[in-house]
Amino acid sequence: MEQRTEISTLGEFGLIEHLTKNNEIKHASTIYSIGDDAAIIDHFGKQTVITTDMLIEGIHFDLMYTPLKHLGYKSVVVNVSDIYAMNATPVQITIAIAFSNRFSVEALDEFYEGVYSACEKYNVDLIGGDTTTSQKGFIISVTAIGEVTPDKYVTRSRAKKGDLLCVSGDLGGAFLGLTLLEREKKIFLETKGVQPDLENQDYIIGRILKPEARKDIIEFFAANELMPTSMIDVSDGLSSEVLHICKQSKVGCILYEEKIPVNDLTRQFAYKLELDPTACALSGGEDYELVFTIAQSDYTKMVLNEQLSVIGYITDREEGTNLITKGGNKYQLTAQGWNAFNK
Ligand code: ADP
Ligand code: MG
Repeated sequence: MEQRTEISTLGEFGLIEHLTKNNEIKHASTIYSIGDDAAIIDHFGKQTVITTDMLIEGIHFDLMYTPLKHLGYKSVVVNVSDIYAMNATPVQITIAIAFSNRFSVEALDEFYEGVYSACEKYNVDLIGGDTTTSQKGFIISVTAIGEVTPDKYVTRSRAKKGDLLCVSGDLGGAFLGLTLLEREKKIFLETKGVQPDLENQDYIIGRILKPEARKDIIEFFAANELMPTSMIDVSDGLSSEVLHICKQSKVGCILYEEKIPVNDLTRQFAYKLELDPTACALSGGEDYELVFTIAQSDYTKMVLNEQLSVIGYITDREEGTNLITKGGNKYQLTAQGWNAFNK
């Protein structure tokens, strides 16, 4: 039988020590990490970027189909993604967890395996956190700290008329992965014993369970001296993110449906469920791609990266926020996408 160690055998401090005993510090900016009332960091003249995100069991994740290791990984990814969306480099994280007695030391070890794996991948130091109990369920709060050379940060508010609207990678996959996992969960619960049919759907399942943040894109910008005029990461769906940029920059936009990048595997699965792939990309969310705007003069730099697509352009605010469909029709973008799922 799998080993189960009750958390009570370690106690709070014993547990913290256990979870962090192999923690390695990678950055000179981490002056003091775990073990005191607070950590100390020194960014040596750079500017500091800070963000926090919470993940709640039953709201943001379902442990029936989410391996704890993936959850640990994703908890870090969603936070470093916000740091990249500011054109900054994440360097430290803190992580607070609350859990009920349903969880064992082994379960938390698995979760931390994912956390440490993401810390390696994204080159961040774990410098602290908090550990407490909850009545029900697992609650995670991660804070990520990043650094950026003074005034190199990119907000949502400086998109200008004529700028090109761009996105990294492809969209809609995470939403379809979630839809598939929810469907198989339902079938499993209703028909006991039926094993889930997840064959050939590794791509979309990976997009929801083990997303990656676009570190590579920020590095590409730096290497090519490309400064986006505005940027945001895709947590809620392309439509909602583009609307945030337009609202905060006080501009409008034209977005072309045919330019929205959707992976073939995502598209095929959408058709199988009779869903519109574009609607999934616009409203799905959780893809953790970067949506950004650049000056037209930076186009020649941007095309050097085949992971980037131009999907439209910025207009005057008076022209509104519009989607041009493949058929040439013009629709107002809404936070739910366009005609979301009842086309
Ligand atoms: P305090 O009571 O002063 O807040 P704690 O006993 O909560 O201190 O935490 C002791 C140390 O362990 C601190 O450095 C804190 O940041 C760190 N820590 C607590 N929980 C975690 C955790 N889940 N993961 C990583 N570090 C943690
Ligand atoms: Mg504490």
